Amino acid sequence: MLLSITTTHAPATDLGYLLHKHPDRAQTYDLAFGRAHVFYPEAGESRCTACLVIDVDPVGLVRGKPGERTLDQYVNDRPYAASSMLAVAIARVFGTALSGICKPRPDLVTTPIPLEASIPALPCRGGPELLRRLFEPLGYTVSAVTRPLDTAFPSWGDSAVIGVSISGTVTLTDLLSHLYVLIPVLDNEKHYWVGDDEVAKLLRHGEGWLARHPERELIARRFLKYRRNLADECIRQLREQDGDAQADIDAESTVDPREEEGERKLSLHQQRHGVIVSVLEARGVRRVVDLGCGEGHLLRDLLSRPFFEKVLGMDVAHRSLEIAADRLHLERLPPRQRERIELIHGSLLYRDRRIEGFDAAILCEVIEHLDEPRLEAATEVVFRVAKPGLVIVTTPNREYNVMWESLTAGATRHKDHRFEWSRDEFRAWADTVCARFGYSCETSGIGDPGITPDGHAVGCPTQMGVFSRVT
Ligand code: SAH
Repeated sequence: MLLSITTTHAPATDLGYLLHKHPDRAQTYDLAFGRAHVFYPEAGESRCTACLVIDVDPVGLVRGKPGERTLDQYVNDRPYAASSMLAVAIARVFGTALSGICKPRPDLVTTPIPLEASIPALPCRGGPELLRRLFEPLGYTVSAVTRPLDTAFPSWGDSAVIGVSISGTVTLTDLLSHLYVLIPVLDNEKHYWVGDDEVAKLLRHGEGWLARHPERELIARRFLKYRRNLADECIRQLREQDGDAQADIDAESTVDPREEEGERKLSLHQQRHGVIVSVLEARGVRRVVDLGCGEGHLLRDLLSRPFFEKVLGMDVAHRSLEIAADRLHLERLPPRQRERIELIHGSLLYRDRRIEGFDAAILCEVIEHLDEPRLEAATEVVFRVAKPGLVIVTTPNREYNVMWESLTAGATRHKDHRFEWSRDEFRAWADTVCARFGYSCETSGIGDPGITPDGHAVGCPTQMGVFSRVT
């Protein structure tokens, strides 16, 4: 089982300080399941590589254990395929580096440096696709080499054990934390008992990144080996952490408690963003502007998908932009990620060159915040002046409001909504826009459609218009 970590930071031998392992010495550690060796196959000024090799003793692993012996206890991939044992070894051998301690060079610990980690054989249950979904949102470039299960039998397909290399500009502590958490998630077979303290361990090593990871639930469930009560508790805490920034938005919050109650039940926010992202991907959109981006929830989804080359968020509310910047951890993003995203302060009511030249514009739950003359101005700005090839508009479907018990009859979902349209009203507005500005529009619904007790179909809670420029 092998993990190698390479840096091209100058001087590259700083890696020795960070790992607390001298490049000139090979060291060996005894572990419960074998021995770990650390050595540097190269240690120059411009490039330095540290290797962690784990010599697993598969026979020792079963010795003294009660029960019947089976062949696969002796003949298995444990000696060479990276598994949760590698994570255990990282914590044991590189524990100081993992906790972000480097007394002789404290400045180094917090400096992102170019790092590459390679694992020649990593079981990935979920394949290269899951590997990417786990590491790319953290800013890594991922490369995966798949191999046939057996070259003599091509029809057997590829092995789940793949060669993995991830590279990025990150701190060594972050890299080790990501590996520590995500290797067992990919392996998905814990070789040790999952105790209650695993939640604390996961939260500790996931600090600063796991709460906002798009796959946080899958990560928690797999890491905790599907121990449901532990995973639920962990996910609850992660959600709470992610909502921290939300806690200090008092009256200025863009989320109305009335709307929030319904949204929580339906998780409509996420459904909307999921649908928008899939429309953008299906249409091959690379450069996208989110107009009235609010606190940046959709921006975060967009940023986590490398497919989108440029993501711009604009909002009129300073406070929302501050929260978005915080939520996206803009200051800590590696440079390549940082270049993909921009937040600007601006208003939809005025022509603004910064929002021109994008493939698509999103107005997600924004138009209903504008009164009629303002909506007219915003429509001109988006469809006549900026005129991207694709515009996606979502807005509440008023007909659905009867489904929400907490809403009194006739009330809007949010105190700042100037209107909420029925499906016909939305369609009529969309038709006018198409006729005036040369677009075609498909309207549809998002969220589960509602039927009242007397059998009246009220449509979906959110309605969406996908406008395509015709000329
Ligand atoms: N699109 C986000 C936020 C919706 S709330 C989401 O789906 O979560 C509506 C947002 O529109 C608020 O953030 C508000 O500040 C913004 N907004 C309202 N009027 C605006 C204007 N004239 N120009 C730009 N943004 C505006």
